[in-house]
Amino acid sequence: MYKMSKIAIFPGSFSPFTLGHQSIVERSLPLFDKIIISIGVNAEKNEYFSIEEREKWIESVYKNNPKVEVKRYEELTVDFCDKIGAKYILRGLRDSHDFKYEKNIAQTNKDLNPDIETIFIIGPAKLSHISSTIIRDIIKNGGDVSQFLPKEIDL
Ligand code: ADP
Repeated sequence: MYKMSKIAIFPGSFSPFTLGHQSIVERSLPLFDKIIISIGVNAEKNEYFSIEEREKWIESVYKNNPKVEVKRYEELTVDFCDKIGAKYILRGLRDSHDFKYEKNIAQTNKDLNPDIETIFIIGPAKLSHISSTIIRDIIKNGGDVSQFLPKEIDL
């Protein structure tokens, strides 16, 4: 009997965490023993939401699911994987624009660390128009974004 723990990180800015992100996590849960939603902290990027807020919202969605954890990281994504023992990087694909961007990152990460595999999940069509950028624009202009967010998140 082989017992290996399959750990994946789901890296992103999650500014904020949307139904699109939630769908990728839900669908990946049966594939892994643990999913670490990993918020990349970029010192140069002036994020609209604080890291604390983003972390708190995601934690509220998964408070009853011990398979999902939230962490922040500042180093290279593959170095963070090494540090926490994750062999998989999870990413979602919406369209060909995502594909082009993600392909280059995945190939570069493979060059940097061949032991780590990037796994892609194609999100459902009914969520493929949802992006954190559009949601932030709605918020900046005073609109209601609740229909695009997990029910636990109340901005
Ligand atoms: P980043 O800043 O690294 O692009 P995001 O927080 O925007 O991170 O997204 C994290 C991951 O979630 C990315 O792989 C992105 O393609 C995916 N994603 C975001 N929204 C959706 C969606 N509506 N459907 C499927 N995947 C999505």
